[in-house]
Amino acid sequence: MDVDVIIVGAGPTGLTLATELGSAGVSTVVLERLNEPSGQSKALGLQPRTAELLESRGLLDRVSDAAIQRVPAGHFAGLRLDFSAWDTPHPYMIGIPQVRVEAILEARAADLGAIVLRGHELTEIVQDGAGVVATAGSQRLRGRYLVGCDGGRSTVRELLGIEFPGLDGRLHMAVTDLTLTGPAPTSWSIPEMSPSRSGKGYLAPIGQNVYRFLFYGPEQRDLSRDAPITIGEVDRALAVSFGSEVKASDIRWGSRFTDTSRQVSTYRHGRVLLAGDAAHIHSPMGGQGLNLGMQDAFNLGWKLAAEVKGWAADGLLDTYQTERHPVAARVLANTRAQSVLLMPDEENLALRTIVEELLELPQANKFVAGMMSGLDIHYPLPGDPHPLLGRRLPGLEQRTGRAALLARGNRLRACVAQWSDHIDYVVTQRDLDAEAVLVRPDGYVCWAGSDVASLTQALSLQWVQREASGSSDR
Ligand SMILES: Cc1cc2nc3c(=O)[nH]c(=O)nc-3n(C[C@H](O)[C@H](O)[C@H](O)COP(=O)(O)OP(=O)(O)OC[C@H]3O[C@@H](n4cnc5c(N)ncnc54)[C@H](O)[C@@H]3O)c2cc1C
Repeated sequence: MDVDVIIVGAGPTGLTLATELGSAGVSTVVLERLNEPSGQSKALGLQPRTAELLESRGLLDRVSDAAIQRVPAGHFAGLRLDFSAWDTPHPYMIGIPQVRVEAILEARAADLGAIVLRGHELTEIVQDGAGVVATAGSQRLRGRYLVGCDGGRSTVRELLGIEFPGLDGRLHMAVTDLTLTGPAPTSWSIPEMSPSRSGKGYLAPIGQNVYRFLFYGPEQRDLSRDAPITIGEVDRALAVSFGSEVKASDIRWGSRFTDTSRQVSTYRHGRVLLAGDAAHIHSPMGGQGLNLGMQDAFNLGWKLAAEVKGWAADGLLDTYQTERHPVAARVLANTRAQSVLLMPDEENLALRTIVEELLELPQANKFVAGMMSGLDIHYPLPGDPHPLLGRRLPGLEQRTGRAALLARGNRLRACVAQWSDHIDYVVTQRDLDAEAVLVRPDGYVCWAGSDVASLTQALSLQWVQREASGSSDR
């Protein structure tokens, strides 16, 4: 083998995976088609759950320093969500362009030994029972596993003939980064995207007199995906939302997109896996795609590392599918629901008014805020029922991506000795509602209690078989 894991694509998903594998001591090469970073950001925001994960890896300060601002709320189809309904140290969106997140991840991945080969476009994959050979130009690399993180038009998916079923888009939108003349907002607000017949737009400052403008309306619906975005079109859309005195002076970047949603049915194909947009695409409503991809990588990274290092239980890698496929399916569903709430017709407007009123109820806000932020993720882990089982446990430092047995005293310390190469024992004063909890490297609790026998089962990953086969106590 030339390398343990080949990652295709140096977007946020591939680079997060490279950092996770690097911290576990797994040799990794990232093949990236572009000679250098594009300099363009699709995403502008990180959700609370991603902030928690970055904090656990010691990366949140760097991200916060590079951010434009904290946005104290999220949104669902432009309807305000209050994240503080959840117990999280980070109940806000971090407003940061995608390129800055990628730069931070790429630097960390390099520090951890991952090699990013730019100007290397994957063109061929051959796999057998022991490994995968990837060809990118004149470069041929053999790895034990290959992960396709190569975006919505994934070459990996195409080369393997993997279907990408889903629904075609109905909402046609445009996004531009531009400079403006006339009065413009100085801080981010919740997108005002009410589904008026004339369409609406959202404007946010992203740099020195540079703004992100996202808009949609009848004109965009009738234009082809490849039609250039002109100043005239932008000015008409600006006038609808902000009045005719706000005008574009220079368009730096523009793109059209729809709310098409698709998801592969199987994330693993032998020694090849898919993550991020390569596995699922949907509309950007609510700012979830990049977060979903990064969280795929946090879930997959430690499982792949366990396989490579030889401590994985049979079926561990298959739990990537069991756990992450439903999470993305739910995001696809919520983005489709948001599209309905944005469609400009009277019935949808009536529905939107009801949803808006519902979201004023604390429980409804908590439900939707949990769904959009990733804070409500609950993996179906088998075991003795405990409120934390399968759920996140924020506030725990796991810089090197190791699991941790968090315990109120030292009684259980000897239990982890056999697994001390990848599990830490951490004495805590936290109120866990249990003597100890076992936290996986991705920050989810896979055991809670005091019983040594069941702890030993959890430490040896015996929950895997039951979870991978789809059975759970819940
Ligand atoms: C307008 C818009 C706004 C958005 N806003 C948000 C937001 O606010 N929050 C959010 O969470 N998400 C948002 N998203 C979604 C987010 O940008 C994507 O989900 C995210 O980029 C997916 O990351 P990825 O790494 O999986 O794929 P990508 O970012 O697409 O990266 C894939 C990489 O693979 C490379 N590649 C492709 N083919 C090959 C090949 N054959 N060989 C080698 N390399 C290859 C590409 O060059 C690229 O670098 C938005 C999307 C759009 C369109």
